[in-house]
Amino acid sequence: MEQTIDKTKPVLVTGASGYIANWIILDLLQAGYTVHGTVRDPDNQRSVGPLHKLAARAPQGRLQLFRADLLEPGSFDAAMEGCEVVLHTASPFVIRGFDDAEAALIRPAVEGTRNVLEAANRVASVQRVVLTSSVAAIYGDNADLQEIPRDCFTEEDWNFSSGVYHQPYSYSKLLAEKEAWKIHDAQSRWRLVCINPSMVCGPALTPFSQSTSIDTLRSLGTGKMWPGAPELRMAWVDVRDVAQAHLEAAFRPDANGRHIVSNGELSFLQVAQILKRHYGSGYRFPVFELPKFVVKWFGWMLDSSVKPKFVERNVGHAICFDNSRGRKRLGLEYRPLEQTFVDHFQQMIDDGLIRA
Ligand code: NAP
Repeated sequence: MEQTIDKTKPVLVTGASGYIANWIILDLLQAGYTVHGTVRDPDNQRSVGPLHKLAARAPQGRLQLFRADLLEPGSFDAAMEGCEVVLHTASPFVIRGFDDAEAALIRPAVEGTRNVLEAANRVASVQRVVLTSSVAAIYGDNADLQEIPRDCFTEEDWNFSSGVYHQPYSYSKLLAEKEAWKIHDAQSRWRLVCINPSMVCGPALTPFSQSTSIDTLRSLGTGKMWPGAPELRMAWVDVRDVAQAHLEAAFRPDANGRHIVSNGELSFLQVAQILKRHYGSGYRFPVFELPKFVVKWFGWMLDSSVKPKFVERNVGHAICFDNSRGRKRLGLEYRPLEQTFVDHFQQMIDDGLIRA
């Protein structure tokens, strides 16, 4: 069913300070929208400083910031007032540096989604909610591909292999998206549209994001993966294309359901080879793939998230996502991944996050 969104009404973006949200907000402002952005701490310059710069760069639109915390019921109501569209991006994307996955990932993801969507139930202006879910809600490990009846994951698939102790970030995204559909199905005013990106890369508009996206590409430039990288294939997508997908999901009259937003699968070594072509020998890029048993038994020494079960079920396994629904229904076109990685690496050099 077609649903027309009033573009003169403000648009809410939760987690405004985030890596993906920054690009969504820039696109919205450049298109002349009024954006209500939520941040946990409006006095934290690392969160709001880059947002003020975005607002200055795009004077066509207007940005207003509100304080809201995923774990505080009711804290999103004021920011949502008068909005027809809610873009819910806020959720922690960390895979290491915590002991308690429930507190670090699962509660903020699930309770946060519940709090935002219950606010949407209370605020009568809301017509559409776009949830930044993830391919992590669709699959858990690369090995899961062998257990589905198709060659590639599609929007029909749901992650069946993650849990609190194995791939807890993916588990948090699965539970959050399930919760969103449950709350959506119990009402009839607003429509839910999900964006399910793969690993997002591309230049950040803030040097302060804690997103695992930043760490992932950065680890190729800091020498952490020198001389060898795991034989790990991942699906990748540009942050600017992900932002575009959110805008399409927000304003297309017939948008609905889930959308895999992903531009192809490459191993770490292949990404390193792209960067090496552009940056030569100035950085210690990996030059070969490590044998799986080495990664399995010694990988954790370099990275606490590299557990033997993760290695067993991901390293050396193929991965594939069918992005045709997003291309067709949201009109998505992807920029070349080579440009994504090079632009991102250059931004990290410019911001001092990587040194030659
Ligand atoms: P990010 O830069 O770390 O952004 C996460 C945002 O969540 C931050 O703005 C953070 O706000 C907010 N947040 C975390 N805990 C919060 C809490 N308790 N209350 C309020 N806000 C809270 O990460 P990102 O990569 O942009 O990720 C954004 C979304 O995209 C997430 O839902 C993530 O799961 C999803 N996603 C990311 C990728 C990827 O590769 N990056 C792929 C698929 C899906 P503060 O500034 O206050 O900390």
